[in-house]
Order: sequence, then structure tokens, then C-alpha cells
Amino acid sequence: MSIARVIVDLSLDKTFDYRVPAQLAGLVVVGAQVNVPFGNSFRRGYVLAIGDTSDYPPERIKDIISICESHTKIPHKLVELGEWMADYYCCSREQAVCSLLPHAVRSGKIKQKSVALFGIADVAAAEKYLAANKDRKAAAGQVEILKILMSNPEMTRERLEAEFHINPSSLNTLRKKGLLLEEKQRVIRDAYEKVQIIPDQPLTPNSEQLSALDKIRSLLNDRSRGHTVLLHGITGSGKTEVYLQAIAMAIEHGLESIVLVPEISLTPQTVRRFRARFGNKISVLHSSLSDGERFDEWTKVHEGVVKIAVGARSALFAPFRNLGLIIVDEEHESSYKQSEAPRYHARDVAVMRGHMEKALVILGSATPSFESYQNAIKGKYELLELSRRVDDCVLPLMKVIDIRLDKKDDEDHKSGMFTKMLIEAVRDRLWRGEQTILFLNRRGYARQMMCEQCGYVANCPDCSVPYTYHLKTQTLTCHLCGDTITAYNKCPDCLSEEIRYSGMGTEKIEIVARKVFSEARIARMDSDTMKTNESYELVLDEFKRGNIDILIGTQMIAKGLHFPNVTLVGIINADQSLYIPDFRSPERTFQLITQVAGRAGRGDIKGEVLIQTYSPFNDTIQFAVKKDYRGFFESDMEVRDLLKYPPAGHLIAVYFQGEDAAAVGAYASQFMEYLRPACHDGIIVGEPAPAPIEKIKAKYRYMIVLRGEKLQQLRKYVRHYVLQARHPKGVHVYADVDAQSLI
Ligand code: ADP
Ligand code: ZN
Ligand code: ZN
Repeated sequence: MSIARVIVDLSLDKTFDYRVPAQLAGLVVVGAQVNVPFGNSFRRGYVLAIGDTSDYPPERIKDIISICESHTKIPHKLVELGEWMADYYCCSREQAVCSLLPHAVRSGKIKQKSVALFGIADVAAAEKYLAANKDRKAAAGQVEILKILMSNPEMTRERLEAEFHINPSSLNTLRKKGLLLEEKQRVIRDAYEKVQIIPDQPLTPNSEQLSALDKIRSLLNDRSRGHTVLLHGITGSGKTEVYLQAIAMAIEHGLESIVLVPEISLTPQTVRRFRARFGNKISVLHSSLSDGERFDEWTKVHEGVVKIAVGARSALFAPFRNLGLIIVDEEHESSYKQSEAPRYHARDVAVMRGHMEKALVILGSATPSFESYQNAIKGKYELLELSRRVDDCVLPLMKVIDIRLDKKDDEDHKSGMFTKMLIEAVRDRLWRGEQTILFLNRRGYARQMMCEQCGYVANCPDCSVPYTYHLKTQTLTCHLCGDTITAYNKCPDCLSEEIRYSGMGTEKIEIVARKVFSEARIARMDSDTMKTNESYELVLDEFKRGNIDILIGTQMIAKGLHFPNVTLVGIINADQSLYIPDFRSPERTFQLITQVAGRAGRGDIKGEVLIQTYSPFNDTIQFAVKKDYRGFFESDMEVRDLLKYPPAGHLIAVYFQGEDAAAVGAYASQFMEYLRPACHDGIIVGEPAPAPIEKIKAKYRYMIVLRGEKLQQLRKYVRHYVLQARHPKGVHVYADVDAQSLI
């Protein structure tokens, strides 16, 4: 007897046994989607395993009813990966399995698209019919159609009507008479159908690229196990060219490749580079695809029509069956961590998928995550370095400006936002016709609205954070829940009109810049101004053409952009991300400064980076200025080693959320007692406490932070109690394994 273990779409984390009926034998395989009886109704589920026996008494085991659309089968290896994710990230198995398939495929609602093609069924019969009817007025329409189709290849009804103005009813008559053949032909919905791409050729690698590629070739050739490479290359060192040539090698071996990029850098610029090299061998999984397009892209990968999948996080689950290479670009990006269940980290899951499928994984970055760098130093990953810019462009000159020493002695910088030195540097560029990027990682006009009289601060009532003030729309907006209200012109408490806005954002930078550099053409790029992909492309295009002198933006402009005429980058406030109470703040600050700085001087003229700060002697800023990644890593690791913060140890955060603060707090304490038996000496327990942001969307939040070198046992406990314990009504509990931020 064949028994299938099926997971159904309910948060139960359990599989159920079903008998495979004779007529479905051989069709029910691991990863297949099936219809099963469940309680009094029916459900869809996925087969996770197949066995011969069941622990249930035979009379209680029901039959599988049918297989769902056969194409929604998940490859066996991916099912295994899903099981690992469920286990490691402490989420239910159905949550993990769900993330393996795009919604468009899973739902079963999207179908393949096809068109009907008409052709001559039998030439002899058609000729005979023509001869007999050629003079009959009533059959003129039919005669015409037969003539067209006898001298043309098969055609769709739409084309016959549009080009030849045929009569639709004549077409039906002919088909009914059996003179025409109607055939269904599949059409692939392609979002890039109309985009013209000029093919390009591999560039001749420089010596560093060449030695990296040699190593990559030898690791690709070794199919006995999976390898991981950390490609640490400064900005503009030609990492992307290495990726492209590595993919070409994989193709030579008949192997498939996945390329992960952060969503924010999945720009047409990037896509164009991949398309130019690989044409239609590539599938781009963009978040703006329609369901139909997504379905078709998935199908192309599944059927092996394409060999390369490029996309954000979820492209990692592209259903290739002969995978040879996974590339994770900008591997340090925190957006690789998914913020809802399953809270997986795409970089780490990529390494695991590579391990399971014996594929090579390349992690690339100019500022590697400490996790990856530690693994490379310890020899778990192969470390490859690109230390020079292509064309030997020199790295930009970095200068620190102490904001405190700036003399505010003229009109222009009364705002206190631009120091004298920065203003002069920008003017200098304007005069020479070169471009400037001004960076501040906060959008809006002001971070906080406060009353000077009574000290009232406008906070979001549902979240424990202040509203951000947006000048243009005259609104106060909560950046956590999106709540928006009309801005006050009087203090709502004391009615004073002395309202002060503090903590500047990009909107304010733009307004001040327009005053100070009145002759300049200025654009702003942040998620308030760039609501669509098109607006983003448009601004980049204008900037590239030199129609914009100063581009102001958040981290949206920090990534991957290549503009040879940008010779100045101004970082408005480097301290901003430094003092966020999180152990990764220095690492993030170092990354941001390095990434933004990398936008300067990509052409023939040496670039300059001006860093405004209140703490010019801060270690992180100093290491960034010296471009000393290694030094920074070693210095910051001392702190992490001491406190067992990742990568010196692992970290699990357990969150508790609910509307009743007391109930949430009490349950967090009770939950801690469940975990206590698994906490040994090597584990540092952050006792239950309110989370740094105590309230989001009217839900109070508590957390437990657990860290240590060996957490496997504890993780099992966490998983068990998160999924199996009976939580009080109204309290939601989840675990965040390898949490990227603790807020
Ligand atoms: P990274 O990804 O490290 O920032 P890129 O791969 O984008 O760097 O390379 C920066 C620029 O240098 C690109 O315009 C790219 O086409 C060019 N480039 C890369 N490798 C070479 C090479 N070997 N010869 C000439 N140009 C190159
Ligand atoms: Zn007031
Ligand atoms: Zn809010």
C-alpha cells in the first residue's frame, strides 16, 4: 500500500496520511499538489513524503481524490529545502511550503494562455470546395478565407479579422464543415516582449577578475559537493562581470543559475545587463509582473525553457532541477530577510540550497555582512577579493566635516543643513558642469513635531513613534503603520503656535537646496517621490543625460548606480544610523557610507566624498574614511565576541503581540519558563521585556532575546512552544531566528 503524507493549508504544522488509489499510482509524487477529503469538506495539499506504512488504523485512512493541475509540482529537492526552513526558522511546514511557490501558481486560478490558430484541414477537399463554389455569391466569404489560408501559414482569428477583414460567421461555417482545422497554441505572456536589447559580449577580465573566475571554474567543476564563495569586491571592481561570466560557465556545463538581487536594485539597468548577455535564456521575476506573467515565467523555469532566473528574494525558489550556480548580489542587504513568516534569510537559505543540490553559491558585496566574512575567514567559504576598480579608476577622496566647527556666518547655511565646505564643493561642481549626489537616509520633511511651549510631541496613537512631518502634503504620517493626519498649525494641547520641527528628512534637504543652489536643476529620489518604477527610471535617465545637477535621496540612490559624471557625494548626516540602539548600527553605517561613496568618481575625474558628522573621531566613520573593511570588522567583532552577538553567536528573538499590554507581558514571562530548561550556561537570556518599539498598529509588543554559540536545542524548544503551545486568546507569538534588527 502506498501512503502519501500530505500537508494542508491550515496552520497545524502536521502532515496527514492518505492512501494513493490505484488509478493515481505513479502520479502522486513528492511535491505534487493533490485534492484530499478533510473533515467534512475537501482541501488542496502538498505531498511531502511517500511511504508504505501509516500509524493510523487502515480503516481511518482516506483516498487521495485527484491531482491538481499537474504543472504545480514542486521539485523534490525544494520540498526538502522547505522542510529545513520550517525547522530552522521555527515556522509551520505549510508556511514554508507556501513560500516555495508564487501565489499565482499555488492558487491554481491562473491558467496557461493560448490562442486558436486556423489552417486548412485537407488541401484536396478545400480545392474541391473552392471549385464548386467559386461563383456562388452566398459563399464568397468562405471562398475568400480558403484562398487566404491556402497561400498563408496558420492564422489566429484576430489576425484574419484585422488584416483580411474576413467574415467571422464564414469562418465558423468552414470549421463546422470540417474544411478548417482549429488548433490551440500556447502563448507566453512576456513583460519584456517590447523591450529591445542590444546583445553584448563578455569583457576581457582584468587580472583580479581572471583569478576569481579561475577559482570559480574549478569549484563549479567539482560536483561532489556544494561550495560557497564570498566575492569581496569594492564598488566598481567588476563583480557583475564576474557573475555574468560565471553564469556562462554554468551554461557550458548544462547547468542552471539563479541570481538574487535586492528588490531595490532590480532596476531596468541591471536587467538590461543580464538580458544583453543571455537574451531569452533568462527569466526575470520582478515584483511588478502580473499574475499571468509570473505564472508563465515560473512555467518556463519549471520546463527548463530558460536557464537563468533573476529576481529578488523569492527567486531563490525557482524550480530548476539541474541547478549549478546561485549568486547573491549585495549579500549584506538586510532586505534578504523576510519580515513575515517564514522569516527566512535568502542568503542563508541560498547557501543551504547550494549545499543540498551541490551547487556553487557566490555571495558578492563591497561590504560583506559580518556573518559571511567570518565564515570566509574561518575557511567555511572561499574568499575572493577584487581590490581595484576596473580601468584603475581611483577610489574617491573621503573627507570628514565636523558640523560643530562649521561657522554659520552667512545667509546660505542658516538652515544648518549644509556646512560651508559642502556648499562650496557643490557650487564648484555646478560651475564645472559635474554632478552631485546628496544622501540622507530619511524621507519626509521633519522627523518630529514638537510644541515649544508645552513640550507636546505628535506621536502616532497606534505606534510608539513620532509622526513624520511632510511639508508638501501638509501631513503627519506614521512610517510604521501609514496613518496620516492633517498637520497641526497650533499645538493641540496648549494651542500655542510655536511649533518646532526637528530631525530633517530628504524633503527638507530638497527645499533648502533649491534656495541655496537656486541655479541648479535638482531632483529628489525616495519612496515618497518614486511611487512607480517608471518615475524611478525617468529620474535616473534624466540624471544620466546630465539634465539634473543635484540628485537628493535616501538609500534608494546608494545602490549600484553608475554615473561617470558624478564627482561629488555629500553625506548630510553620517551619525543618523550610528546611534540607533542596535548592535548592527555600526555595520549598517559603515555599509551605507561605503556604498554611497562608491557612487562618486566612476569616470575619468577623481571623485570626492564629504561626510558631515557631529562625531568625526568615531571609529566606524574613521574606518569607512580609510576604506578599511578588515580593520572595521576586527574592531567591531571584539564587541560582538564579548557579548556573543552574531556572528560570534546565534540569536533568536521571540515576539509577543496583543492589544492588552498586561496579558502580553504576563504571557511572555510564562513562555520564558517553558524555555528555561533548554537554557544552559552558554546562553545569554534577555528576559521578557517590552520591545524597543512598544506598540505597533495598536498592538503592544514584548520580546525575549536569546543568544549563544549553540542554540540548536533551544531552537527546538522555541519551535515547539511557538507552534504547539496554546497561546492565550489575542496574543500572537512568533520567533525571529537570526533576527536582523531588534526593534
Ligand atoms: P561592481 O558590480 O563591482 O560594482 P561592475 O561589474 O558594475 O562593478 O563594473 C563597473 C563597470 O566596469 C561596468 O560599467 C562594467 O561594464 C565595467 N567593467 C567590468 N569589468 C570590466 C572589464 N574586465 N573590462 C572593461 N570594463 C569592465
Ligand atoms: Zn503645546
Ligand atoms: Zn502608526
